[in-house]
Amino acid sequence: MTRRPRLTADTPGVCVSQLYGSRSATTMSVPMTTGYSQGVIHAELKAHDDHVDCSWRDDDETSASGPAQQIQVDWQPVGEKGRRPWFICRGCRMRRRSLYFVKPGFGPVELVCRKCAGLRYPSQDADPVERLASEISLIHSRLGSRVAADPYYIRRASWPARPKGMHMRVYRDLLTELADKQAEMDAAIASRSLRLVSQVDVWLSRHT
Ligand SMILES: [Zn+2]
Repeated sequence: MTRRPRLTADTPGVCVSQLYGSRSATTMSVPMTTGYSQGVIHAELKAHDDHVDCSWRDDDETSASGPAQQIQVDWQPVGEKGRRPWFICRGCRMRRRSLYFVKPGFGPVELVCRKCAGLRYPSQDADPVERLASEISLIHSRLGSRVAADPYYIRRASWPARPKGMHMRVYRDLLTELADKQAEMDAAIASRSLRLVSQVDVWLSRHT
């Protein structure tokens, strides 16, 4: 299995608020280096009310690099008068705040969401919460229940009953493992929260 590249601050992308920060449509140029070919690609993004036009060219080319793309934009009503723009990802058709430039092999440049671009969050490497959540979800599935690998659903999941034909001792071991891992996950969530608090403290000590 190949490791997916990591999403970093340098990953070339665009947030919907960059384009729709002002009322009028804006044009912007995004220099980028693709993962496969070296060089800089200039993207031109033109925001219209219901879509964004994207075109790009390489640094050393005057012609367009790949076909122009259109990204659909969906407006979500906020409050009584407000509305918030969302990109509709061309890959998964989901509402997304940010899209990223990727160039798969020799194919044309694509502007898609984090998931479709195959980018990992940096925290997915080290975050024990996520790891434990998927381990817990796996134990649930061994006990015949389906629980998403997410602390929110895990905490609300009912205690699985013993599947028909499963030996009582096996059932007991799985329940023990489940309880242990759940306690570990809760502890990991708590320490993650404390880490956030100390990060805020550091920020405050520098800015006040
Ligand atoms: Zn997508």
